[in-house]
Amino acid sequence: MSRYNELLQAITVREGGREVHDPATGELIGRVPVQSAADVDAAIDRARAAQPAWAALSDEERVGHLNRIADAIEANAEALAELLSREQGKPLNGPNARFEVSACAAWTRVPAATPLPVEVVIDDGETYAEMHYRPLGVVGAITPWNWPMMIAIWQIIPALRMGNAVVQKPSEYTTLSGLALAHVVNTVLPDGVLNVVAGGGDLGSRIVESDLVEKIMFTGSTRTGKKIIEASSGSIKRLTLELGGNDAGIVLDDVDPEAIAEDLFWGAFINTGQTCAALKRLYVADAIYDSVVSALAEVAARMPMGNGLDEENVLGPLQNDMQFEIVDRLVASAKASGARVVLGGDPDRDAVGYFYPTTLIADIDPHNDLVVEEQFGPALPIVRYTDLDEAVRLANELDAGLGASVWSSDRERARELAARIQAGTVWINSHGTINPFVPFGGAKQSGYGLEFGVAGLKSVAQPQIIQG
Ligand code: NAD
Repeated sequence: MSRYNELLQAITVREGGREVHDPATGELIGRVPVQSAADVDAAIDRARAAQPAWAALSDEERVGHLNRIADAIEANAEALAELLSREQGKPLNGPNARFEVSACAAWTRVPAATPLPVEVVIDDGETYAEMHYRPLGVVGAITPWNWPMMIAIWQIIPALRMGNAVVQKPSEYTTLSGLALAHVVNTVLPDGVLNVVAGGGDLGSRIVESDLVEKIMFTGSTRTGKKIIEASSGSIKRLTLELGGNDAGIVLDDVDPEAIAEDLFWGAFINTGQTCAALKRLYVADAIYDSVVSALAEVAARMPMGNGLDEENVLGPLQNDMQFEIVDRLVASAKASGARVVLGGDPDRDAVGYFYPTTLIADIDPHNDLVVEEQFGPALPIVRYTDLDEAVRLANELDAGLGASVWSSDRERARELAARIQAGTVWINSHGTINPFVPFGGAKQSGYGLEFGVAGLKSVAQPQIIQG
C-alpha cells in the first residue's frame, strides 16, 4: 500500500462521519470523524494529564522530540503533500503543497533551535530580578483551511517547545490535512501531548470556553476572532489572534515594471490568493500604471491553473463553494462599477471544481467592494494613484492591518514610506515573504500577539519574575 493510502486509512472512518471531496474534481477522498463536545472535553483531560510529565522533560529532551517530528514530516513529505493537495486544492508545485510541507519541517526545526534563556532583568547590587518563561498548561490551537498544515505547526510547535500540551482543532474544510499532520507528529510524541478534535466551530468554542485551557492560538477570520475574545473573557484566557487581512501594496514611480511583475504576481496569487498576508489591493503610480498592469497581465496569463496533482499546475481551485461565491460577488461588483477587466473575471459555471480564473481588475474605484473587502481568492484590484499621500491614506483607511508592501528602486524612500503604513509587517520589494526567525502578527483588527522567533516562544509561556 502506498504511504498516501496508509495515511488516509489511519485517519478516516469507513462509515458515518462526513464525506470529504476534492475541490478540483468533486471526487470523494474519504470520510472524517465528526466529534462532539464530550470528545473535546476528553481531549482536554488527556492533555492535562500528559502535560506535567512533558513539562518535566529537560529542554534538550523536548528539542530532541521536535527535531524527530521534523524528521517524521520529511519522511512523509510526499504523502502529506498529496493529501493536502487533494483536500485543500493547492497544486503540488509552485509555492503550494510541497512548499507547505517543507515549511512545516522548517517551522519545527527553527523553534527547536531557538533558545529562550532566563533573562536577568536587573542586577545592580541592590536588586536582583530574573524573568523565566514557564509552561502555561494546555494550549488550544484553532486553524483555518488555507494553509492547514503550516499554520497548525506554527501554533503547535512553539507551544510544545515551552512545555505545554495542545488540543488542536483543524478547520472543518480541511480536517484530513489536520488529522494527517497530527498522525505523523504523534508517531514521535508521548501520548496525550498533542490531541486533535475533528468538527466545526462549535468544537472550537468548546475549547475556548473551557476553564482547563490556558491559552488560545487562533488563526482565522476577524469575525470569529471577535467571538473568541468574548467567549474567553470568563477565564481571562491568553490569546494570540492572527485574523483576516486586506494587504495593500504601493508601487512607487521609480520601479522597473518588468522586474517586479513576477514578485507582485506571487505576492497576490500565492495559494491562488487564499492567503492571509497576500497582496489584496495594489496601488500603482500613474506614471507607470499601464506598464505595471501589462507586465503583471503577461506573467498572470502564463501561470497554469488546474488539478493540483497535475505537476504542471501552479494555481488551483478555490477550496470551497463559499469562497468561490465571495470572489464571484466581489468581481461582479467591480465589473458593475465599470472597472476594466484585464484578465479573467468570467468563471465557467459548468466546469467541474471551484475554479475561478486568474483575474486582474484595473482602473477601479478605490472604494469598490473588491478593494475594501477581503477577496481571499485569485482576483486582484489595481488602483491608479497620482498623489502618494492619497495612496497612503487609502492603504491605511481599512480596519485590517496584517501586512503591506512598498515597491521602489530607492530603499530609503521605501523605508520612509513603510513607516507610514499601519500594518504588522511592511515588506519592501516583496510581499508575504515570511521567515521562521522573524516575528509575524497583525495590527488593528488583523489581530494581536506575535508568532515565530523568540517572540513566538514567549507568547506560549507564562512570564514569571523571580526577585531577591
Ligand atoms: P474562520 O474564522 O471561519 O474559521 C477558523 C477556525 O475557527 C475553524 O477551525 C473554525 O471551525 C473555527 N471556529 C469557527 N467559529 C468558532 C468559534 N465561535 N469559536 C472557536 N472557533 C471557531 O476562518 P477561515 O474561513 O477558516 O479562514 C479564513 C480567514 O482566516 C481569512 O480571513 C484569512 O485572512 C484568515 N487568516 C489569517 C491568518 C493570519 O495569520 N493572520 C492566516 C490564515 C488565515
